[in-house]
Formats: sequence, structure tokens, C-alpha cells
Amino acid sequence: MKYAIVIPDGCADEPQPSLGGLTPLQAASTPAMDEVAASGVVGRSNNVPPELPAGSDVANLSLLGYDPRANFTGRAPLEAAAQGIALGPHDWAIRCNLVTVVDQVMRDFTAGHISTAEATELLRAAQDQLADDTLEFIPGVSYRNLLIYRGANRPAPFARETDATPPHDLTDQSVANDLPRGPGSDLLNDLMLRSEAVFANHPVNQARRAAGKKPATNVWLWGLGRTPRLTSFWDLHGKRGKMITAVDLLRGLAALLGWDRIEVPGATGYLDTDYAAKGRYAIDALPTTDVICVHVEATDEASHEGNVAAKVQALEEIDRHIVAPLLAALRAQGDFRLLVSPDHPTPLRTKTHSHGFVPWAICGTGIEPDAGRTYDEVTASRSSLSFDEGWKLMGYFLKSFA
Ligand SMILES: [Zn+2]
Repeated sequence: MKYAIVIPDGCADEPQPSLGGLTPLQAASTPAMDEVAASGVVGRSNNVPPELPAGSDVANLSLLGYDPRANFTGRAPLEAAAQGIALGPHDWAIRCNLVTVVDQVMRDFTAGHISTAEATELLRAAQDQLADDTLEFIPGVSYRNLLIYRGANRPAPFARETDATPPHDLTDQSVANDLPRGPGSDLLNDLMLRSEAVFANHPVNQARRAAGKKPATNVWLWGLGRTPRLTSFWDLHGKRGKMITAVDLLRGLAALLGWDRIEVPGATGYLDTDYAAKGRYAIDALPTTDVICVHVEATDEASHEGNVAAKVQALEEIDRHIVAPLLAALRAQGDFRLLVSPDHPTPLRTKTHSHGFVPWAICGTGIEPDAGRTYDEVTASRSSLSFDEGWKLMGYFLKSFA
């Protein structure tokens, strides 16, 4: 039996006035996803407990079958795992965005999707001018970078209650009342403030301004935590897994689950990603894994930009280039199950992740079709298949009906 999971990140949404009252999933032409729904079952899951942040970290942990209440420690440790950065028991990983803040307003949590080369230079300057023997600024991809606090010599001042707002939750809002709070927040605020001076006249920013691009005004520190110790997917379910994704968060989750990562050329984590390549690589991986998971960030990015048309288009690309060929390949090779589900809603209205149910569809061997004919939020809301604790869906998906 082969299992495939397709995750259109943040695709769940609300009815859109500009789409005649339809959600993006309803409005998009997605014949393959609708085929999954029509030949299988549609239901809904809540992947984010109310007391945890509505992020891709918690939501994907849940979607992949791990109770986030028991296992979530923070976003940055997952991304550190993705980069192969070993964290000791006293170490903390902290997400270090490059952002554009103007007059105390978060103008861009990506600093204009700054290039990795530019980000690397700015992180190097931060390391030279802000770090001491406990701090390591580590470049990642584009605006998504890390700060590691090495606690062996000097214990980290942070605690579980240390609270730092994700910068994508502050888009176009004042940051003044959303600076880090709680244990160790003085250190985080100090670094964020001092980075302004380090970056202000840095050659990277001078060149960006000259080219009409947004400068990276400062680092934004959030998502901190220690490394979680997850039971491997193999030990939980007796199945091997492989992950296709362009974002470090999902790479890290895969690493902590004991899954292989497949790097796909042209996968960008943005709207210009090579959808067809992701589909091909997923199909190519089937003979060597039990579970193949394809994560696509583009739908989430479209919502962060409030771009309805881009979200609809991303859904149609995912349908045409990933779900359709994958479903055909799965059917051709024998017994299979296919799950399509986002991690969390990312409403275009708010431009950020939210708590709440997401629709999913499962088809394949042993799944008796139910009444759902299309894959969308409305169909899912009428389904009797509902998981208040979304992490239990994985057991349902993998369960033998034979
Ligand atoms: Zn997400």
C-alpha cells in the first residue's frame, strides 16, 4: 500500500466577495481534488489547539499525526533540524526574520523576499557586531534565518512563557505593542533594536534602496524553543516516509519524524514554484517509500499577500500538476490512499494563519465513497467526519480497512 499526502499550505479560507461568495477552493477549477472527494470521503480537522499559536509548525505537526499539545516546543527548533543544526539540551533556536519596519509599522515580514545571498551578508554583519560567545546567527533561505543561543556556558534566560509575535501576524500593523515579552525578552528586544544600526547603511540595503526594493531594516526574533524529541513515524506507524517541500519548517519536521527529504530543483516556496517538478519527484519516489508527502507553500503566500487571484491560480496549479498525475500514478501501481489537506486556514481577509477547521479529502483502497462530490470548506462542514484533534486524522488515513 502506498500513501500520498498533498498539503496546499493555508488553502482553507472564507467566502470571497470578489469570487461571488465562493471560497478559493470552491472557485478554483480543481477536477483532480474533486475526483479525490467524489471517489472517497471528505471531512474536516482542527489542527491547532486554541491555546497554541496558529502556525504551520503546530498545524503540520498535527496533520502528520503528532499531538501538538504533547510535542510542540516552538518553530525555530524545527527549522534548525532542517538545516542539520544540532541543538544540545541547553540550547534554544530562535527564528530570525529579516523584515521591513517603517515608522514602527511592519511593512514586510519578508524584507521584499530578500535573496539568500543578501540575507547571508546581513546575517554575517549581525554575527560580527551583535553576537557574543552564546549567540550564532545562521543564514537560511531568503528572509527565514535562525539565531541559536548556546546555553552550555551561560544558561538561556528564556522559558516556555517567553512570548514573541510572528512578524507575518503584524503585516501593516504597528509593532510597538507586539515586541517580545516574558523571560529573556530583554535580550531579544535589545538584539532587534541594535540590528537597526547594523543594517541601516549596510551595502546590501544601499543597493536595495537604489534598485527600488525594500530594505531589511532589522531582525525580528520569534518562534523560540528547544528541540522536541519526537517518536519516529516508523516507530509510531511502521511506515517509511519522504517529504517534498521548499520550506525549512517542513524539512525539519520530516527530519524529526525520521523521514527522508527530497530536494526538487525549481521548488521555491513561493508562487513561482515548479509545481510539475514536485509532482514528478513525488511519483518517482513511490517505489522507495510507504508515504510520500508533498507540501506546497504558494497558497499560503498568496493569502499573506491578500491576493485572491494568485490563491485560486496556485490551487489550480497544484491540482493539475501534482494531485492529478499523482492520483493517476497511484491508481496505476496498485493499492493506495491519497490525502489532500491544508495545515490551517490562512484567510485572505486577515492575511495571516488562523485557528479553525480545514477541509480534507481521502480516496483509495478500502475507502467507501460518501456524499461529498467536491473538495471544499462547505462540503467538509456538512461531513460527519470531523476531528477536533486533528492529529488523529493520520491514524484514520493509515488505518487498514481490509
Ligand atoms: Zn502553514
